[in-house]
Amino acid sequence: MPTVAPQFLRSRIGKVCVPIIGATPAEMLEKASAVVKETPFLEFRLDYLEKPLLALPKLKHFLGENTAVTAIATCRRAANGGKFAGPLAAEMEILSKAATSGFHIVDLELESAESLKKGELQKLRETGVALIVSHHDFTATKDLDTIFKRIEPFQPDFIKIVPTAKTLTDNVTLMRFIERMDNHSNIVGVCMGDAGIISRVLGLRAGSAFTFAAATAGEETAPGQIAARTLIETYRIDQVDAATKVYGVAGNPIRSSLSPIMMNTAFRRETVNAVYLALQANKLSDLLKLVHEIPIQGLSVTMPLKQEIMAHLEKTDPLSAKIGACNTVLRQDGKLYGFNTDVAGITGPIEKRMALRGAKALVLGAGGAARAAVFGMRDKGAEVFILNRTAETAQKLAKQSGSKTIKKEAVAKTTFDVIVNATPIGMTGIKGAPILEAVDLNTKLVFDLVYNPLETPLLRLARQQSIPIITGIEMFVQQGARQFEIFTGKPAPEEEMLRVVIHALRQQAESATETSALTAKTKKPPERSSSIKNRSQKN
Ligand code: NAP
Repeated sequence: MPTVAPQFLRSRIGKVCVPIIGATPAEMLEKASAVVKETPFLEFRLDYLEKPLLALPKLKHFLGENTAVTAIATCRRAANGGKFAGPLAAEMEILSKAATSGFHIVDLELESAESLKKGELQKLRETGVALIVSHHDFTATKDLDTIFKRIEPFQPDFIKIVPTAKTLTDNVTLMRFIERMDNHSNIVGVCMGDAGIISRVLGLRAGSAFTFAAATAGEETAPGQIAARTLIETYRIDQVDAATKVYGVAGNPIRSSLSPIMMNTAFRRETVNAVYLALQANKLSDLLKLVHEIPIQGLSVTMPLKQEIMAHLEKTDPLSAKIGACNTVLRQDGKLYGFNTDVAGITGPIEKRMALRGAKALVLGAGGAARAAVFGMRDKGAEVFILNRTAETAQKLAKQSGSKTIKKEAVAKTTFDVIVNATPIGMTGIKGAPILEAVDLNTKLVFDLVYNPLETPLLRLARQQSIPIITGIEMFVQQGARQFEIFTGKPAPEEEMLRVVIHALRQQAESATETSALTAKTKKPPERSSSIKNRSQKN
């Protein structure tokens, strides 16, 4: 089978390469056949196979049948995140045979390349296959120029440098490095880790020749890898260019946040040239540096940064100042301005159903979300009662906001217009006794800010008593919709935002059910458990 001359490769490779994994050749080919319908640039991870050499005839047949595919053969060693543990000679035999089996590119690790005897690499190159020399660092983003200088003498067709982002600004280090190498259009760079998502989305804009994405969620071959469909459809990386404005949601942890899917969908729907990223912020200082370096035009701010960021804002709206927390930051002329859309996310849905002026409201909790509920409803003229596990926090909030506290025993004897749950009770994965029982629900409306699951035990209780309810999803979408308007000045596509968030939550619930069924069957934790277990509620 003729290989494609390296000089023609650039025009045939896509921007997204999808690693194909599988314990058997049949499993690999099944996955490859599915992926190729959407992405024809594949990396076959031969190290996942017990006997890679025996699989090559089948892979050759597949490549012969699928001529639109561009294929990389990789035999990743354990030290670099793979499964191959054989000697260097065996690795070279596999890669050389792959080169004559229709693979267009082979990936050779820098450590292997450096261990080869003189002439051995030349033999591989004489097959006509294109060469990637790759380097992985699972600890940090450092010494990129030194690594480059080590790879360069091998004169590969692609230089692949994959460090790990420990901070958000590590992405900037990698992207600046790629930009500096603009006469080397053959660099492939991406940061691993949750903090590295920025480089997976913006790396191409910085000049990376291509990037990697998982076949599906759960089939990641490197930490922080995003599913190909998400990268292409949600992040629209094909369209990210120099003019694309960058926004993001910052918090810790942030990987399970639904804000990227919601906001990117809204940007796409309204044809806004913008992308919205999940920013794993371990430190506020790291986030602020990133905001100015990229630059980032606007932020959704979530736990635990909502209060801490206040000191770094040029100005905030009056409610953010009263509450002492801000969930939305807009960057204008290099300065940061703060807003609180959590408030509108709570008062907006209630006011669609009843007037808050003169209404009697009960708020459960006295944390961040409760503060937004209490101040928001007070601002609209409601009389507010607060019930919290820690009485002193409730008393403090009541004093600050001109509200009252209430004891649990008094709730059943009191009639309210609306009850708002602003505690995590009812949320998937959170343990804790329900705060209210059926006798306590003497109210015209129940609003549970918890949105995962879609129907919480409190909402079920209310529904059983025919009390109208508002789900936490409505708050989530409303606070996001107001952010979208602050960011873009355009009305938000609320229905589309709601649809996509509900769809994502249902998918999460389904895969959680599948995982627990699998766990029960095998009595062993499944491989995908870490990503699923960590999915909680995050905006
Ligand atoms: P937070 O600042 O940590 O406050 C949590 C509050 O819940 C505190 O008042 C705490 O009481 C109380 N609490 C925690 N565990 C409890 C338990 N086991 N029993 C009774 N009370 C308990 O959290 P937050 O940011 O306000 O968020 C609260 C919830 O609101 C989140 O879990 C989330 O579900 C929801 N939320 C939803 C949205 C949305 O868009 N829909 C947005 C933000 C938040 P103590 O004072 O005694 O610790």
